[in-house]
Amino acid sequence: CSPCSPASFSPSFSPQASLTGTPPSKATNGETLQSSQGQSGVQPEQNMPPQKGSKTAGQASGLKQMDIGLFFGLKPLKEKEAANGPHVLDSTSVPSAGENTGGRRQRRNGQSKGITKTPGDAEQDLSSAGGQQEAARGRGRGWRRRGWSRVNADGEVQLPRCPFYKKIPGTKFAIDAFQYGKIEGISAYFLTHFHSDHYGGLAKNSTLPIYCNKITGNLVKSKLRVAEEYVHILPMNTEVIVEGVRIRLLDANHCPGAAMLLFILPDGQTVLHTGDFRADPSMETYPELLGCRVQTLYLDTTYCSPEYTFPKQQEVINFAANRAFESVTLNPRTLVVCGSYSVGKEKVFLALAEVLGSKVSLSKDKYNTMCCLESEQIKKRITTDWKGAQVHVLPMMQLTFKKLQDHLTRFSSQYDQLVAFKPTGWTFSQQVESVDDIQPQISGNVSVYGIPYSEHSSFLELKRFVQWLRPLKIIPTVNVGSWASRKAMEKSFREWLTQTKQ
Ligand SMILES: [Zn+2]
Repeated sequence: CSPCSPASFSPSFSPQASLTGTPPSKATNGETLQSSQGQSGVQPEQNMPPQKGSKTAGQASGLKQMDIGLFFGLKPLKEKEAANGPHVLDSTSVPSAGENTGGRRQRRNGQSKGITKTPGDAEQDLSSAGGQQEAARGRGRGWRRRGWSRVNADGEVQLPRCPFYKKIPGTKFAIDAFQYGKIEGISAYFLTHFHSDHYGGLAKNSTLPIYCNKITGNLVKSKLRVAEEYVHILPMNTEVIVEGVRIRLLDANHCPGAAMLLFILPDGQTVLHTGDFRADPSMETYPELLGCRVQTLYLDTTYCSPEYTFPKQQEVINFAANRAFESVTLNPRTLVVCGSYSVGKEKVFLALAEVLGSKVSLSKDKYNTMCCLESEQIKKRITTDWKGAQVHVLPMMQLTFKKLQDHLTRFSSQYDQLVAFKPTGWTFSQQVESVDDIQPQISGNVSVYGIPYSEHSSFLELKRFVQWLRPLKIIPTVNVGSWASRKAMEKSFREWLTQTKQ
């Protein structure tokens, strides 16, 4: 059956199955985090080389080969095969046509079938593509799961059932779970951030009690028109108690308003839900995380495979700012364009505007969205006057040569050349480890730079964060739809946690 069908989704993935091979940590309650970090063996550099006792270069290439198989829906190669040279992939496990075969390609199936997320466009604004898309979690690897619905014996359409990884056991909480209607046993619905694959299902007439921070709440009220009485705003970095559970919201380093949720249950169990996040070493200084021992980690596993490497955000921002500055210096009649989805990637166009001493012009709708973010830095840069800004923000789907050419023509009295930046996450077509590898695509007087600006953790960033946090159990929240993907992630988790014990 198709990987989109319910049969291959959550029922086959239980928490027990997720990490059975990981023995519990020996850490005791009295152990300080300082000492645990000392034992972890985590190296200080963000893009650290393989650790002692881990993979060799040869094995690494073997792994890469394995992952290509995974991408095509094949079962993972056995661990020992990595050392045995080239593999012959078992043709019997190749999925039939139409199955999970196109993960890394940009693939759109139109509104009626939902839109597949790929690693390269993990934050597409699905709302702008036609209202409340029930967007799938599970980016990449061809996994697509629209909010499938079933019809019961009485002919009533039933909403999909909420998968286990969206609920926090021991609480009445669900996280980013609005596409299932009212969920039995759930009385508080948390929203980690305002991306449509997380708020999908929320609409004007929603009456579910939503818990989120101020920025996300602004967006929910302003963009989705959810009534104020249902939106419960929680402060950042401050403990609050909801239904007997101590909760803290921490910066997730994803898009504006994105929060990680730290729960301390009445029985002392500590749970961290990262929402979508880009792990950063600065998180290792969060007092809230230093002051507790996380037992269960719900992890954003968007890029949880070794091939997902990309530069740091700041390097990519500097690259774009430098290219824009060079282009405008060489030809002052250069219009600079930055692509965007809904919320996120603001740092890119702000940097472009800053280096050029220009305002950023955007559509009225996007302008209103930006006003929800409560950022003075953003507010003083943005305008809806297209002629009054040398930096234009356009929807990502408008960054085609044809549309950019048309856009340039509209402003031909001011500009005769256009340089566009397309901030995407990881893309298969443009695997860059360093910004030096980035080349523009050029057509006439239009140049387009695809830039690997990611708001999700790279594989090594995930590894470092997990090895620092040392949770007892990890529950992936992305790419959980295929057996192969889950197995590969579980293998990584086991390796990481085993390494920290050595
Ligand atoms: Zn997101």
